[in-house]
Amino acid sequence: MSKEKRIKNLYSIFRTIIQLGFFFLFYMLAFNYITPYIKTSIIPITVPVLISLRSNLSSMAGSLTFIQYMLSLPLFPWIPLASILIIGVIIGRLLCGWACPFGFIQDLLSRLSKEKIRISQQNHNKYIKIKFVFLGITLFVSFILALSLHLDANNELKRALGPFAEGIFYTISPNETFFGDLPGLLAQASTGSLNLNISNYLLYFNLIFLIFTLIGAFKIPRFWCKYLCPLGGFLGIIAKCSLLGIRRDLTKCDRCMKCVKVCPMQIKILELPWEKFTDTECTLCVECIEECPNDALKLKI
Ligand code: SF4
Ligand code: SF4
Repeated sequence: MSKEKRIKNLYSIFRTIIQLGFFFLFYMLAFNYITPYIKTSIIPITVPVLISLRSNLSSMAGSLTFIQYMLSLPLFPWIPLASILIIGVIIGRLLCGWACPFGFIQDLLSRLSKEKIRISQQNHNKYIKIKFVFLGITLFVSFILALSLHLDANNELKRALGPFAEGIFYTISPNETFFGDLPGLLAQASTGSLNLNISNYLLYFNLIFLIFTLIGAFKIPRFWCKYLCPLGGFLGIIAKCSLLGIRRDLTKCDRCMKCVKVCPMQIKILELPWEKFTDTECTLCVECIEECPNDALKLKI
C-alpha cells in the first residue's frame, strides 16, 4: 500500500472512531445494561443530529424530534431551535458527517457495498428537494397543532392527528424505527413473546420505510441524508452561510475531478467559489480533501 493511500485510510479510520464515540455518547444509557454498577443518566441536551426519542438507551435528544415534541405540548421550542441555528451557523452540517448515529449506520452500509449507484445529476437535483418538502410538512403540521392547542380546549386536531400529533417526522422516522422500535421487536422475538397486531399499519409502514432507507444507503452513499432527512435540510439551509467551509487552492488544483467523484453528497465542487465554499449538501466529511492528489483542498474558517 502506498504512503498516500495509508494516510487516506488513517483519515477514514479517524472519522469512524469519532462517529463511534458520538454513537456511544448519544446512546450512553446502554452502559446501564453493560455495566450495571455505573449508572449513567439522561443529560437534558438537544443536538442537531438524529437521536431516537423512542429508544430507552438515548441519553440526549435530537433537535428536530424535540421541536415536534415540544410543539405537541404545546411549548415554544427555543432550545432545540437555537441548537440548530447556532450549530448550523458555526459548523454547518459537520455533525451530519461526524456525529449523527444514523449517518454512521449509512457509512458502514455503504462500505459493505461493492457497486454503488451514482444518481444522474439531473435526477439528483430533483430528489434533493424531497427533504425540504418533508421538513416543510413536518414543521407546518406541528406549528398548526401548537396553535390549535392554544385556541381549542377540546384538542380536536390533536385527536384527529392520532399518532402523528407528536410530529409527522418523529412518527415515521427510520431512525426511530431502527433505534427505538427494532431492538424491542427483536428482544420479543428472541423470547418468543412477539405479538404483532395485524392492524398496526403504522409499524408495518415504518418497517418497510426503514428497509427501503437501508437498502438505499447500501447502494447510494448517504441516501437518507441526501434526499430524505428533514433535519439535514434544515441544517443545510443555514449551512449555506456557515463559518466553516472548504477552500480550493487554484494554484494547486488541476481540475482532475477526483474530489467530485468521491463526494458522497454529489457536490459540484469545481463550480463553487474557490476562496471558501459552503453548500447546503456538504457534511464536511473531508473525503474530497483526502482524495485530492494535489493537496488543493483545506478546511477554512
Ligand atoms: S481533486 Fe484536487 S486537484 Fe482534483 S479537481 Fe479536486 S481540488 Fe482540484
Ligand atoms: S464536498 Fe467534500 S466535505 Fe463536502 S460532502 Fe463532499 S466530500 Fe464531503
